[in-house]
Amino acid sequence: MSSGTRIVLLGRQGAGKGTQCLRLSRHYVVPHISTGDMLRAAVREDSALGRSVEKIIGGGGLVSDELIIEVVRERLKKADTQQRGYILDGFPRTVVQAEALDLIAQDLPLLGVVDLVVPRDLVLSRLSARRVCRDCGANYTATGVVRSPWSCDTCGGDVVLRDDDTPDAINLRLDLYESQTAPLISFYGQTQRLHEVDGVGSQDEVFDRITEVIDRAGGGS
Ligand code: ADP
Repeated sequence: MSSGTRIVLLGRQGAGKGTQCLRLSRHYVVPHISTGDMLRAAVREDSALGRSVEKIIGGGGLVSDELIIEVVRERLKKADTQQRGYILDGFPRTVVQAEALDLIAQDLPLLGVVDLVVPRDLVLSRLSARRVCRDCGANYTATGVVRSPWSCDTCGGDVVLRDDDTPDAINLRLDLYESQTAPLISFYGQTQRLHEVDGVGSQDEVFDRITEVIDRAGGGS
């Protein structure tokens, strides 16, 4: 079997997936593949893909399984993924996507799925304060002090409120998570690939819990 870290991070919006994935990507030297970041980049570039998904993303809906599966299939063919593995963030989001992943990643099979568990009321307050770097995806928390323009400490990009971090879109995304993504928990549980991790605590505490699980699953090699 090929080496490398090959994991999926599941968890509600605002559970801390983006932040933890960036750290995990550096720690294991493995590509962080965020389908949300990829789609937002396509919107910024005004590509055909970007134009076809812009309205759906802004409203908090899900793009079609067919389209996102194709995006991930192409991404997993790249050399960095083939050599180092992947940390998937935001994909799969439906059981259809999870089944497709098992097929498209046959030569790079998933080692485990980490479900970052954070209660809905806590993620709601986190999301309303969330600001994101438009360029590298780093997350920040707004403290009430408006810093304008706000530049990313990591890459110097613009730090902004995401178009879909409005109350209506947040609620729709959380509802979709319950209906579409929560069934993945049983899908991966049935195949013994699921690891639940408590996502409440400091970033360091949560990071330590996740790496312990990944190392135990053999993904730290
Ligand atoms: P969040 O998890 O905070 O909703 P993401 O950054 O993961 O945000 O995704 C942003 C948006 O991109 C989603 O609301 C959805 O419109 C689209 N998207 C990303 N990944 C997928 C996916 N796997 N399937 C369908 N739509 C997706």
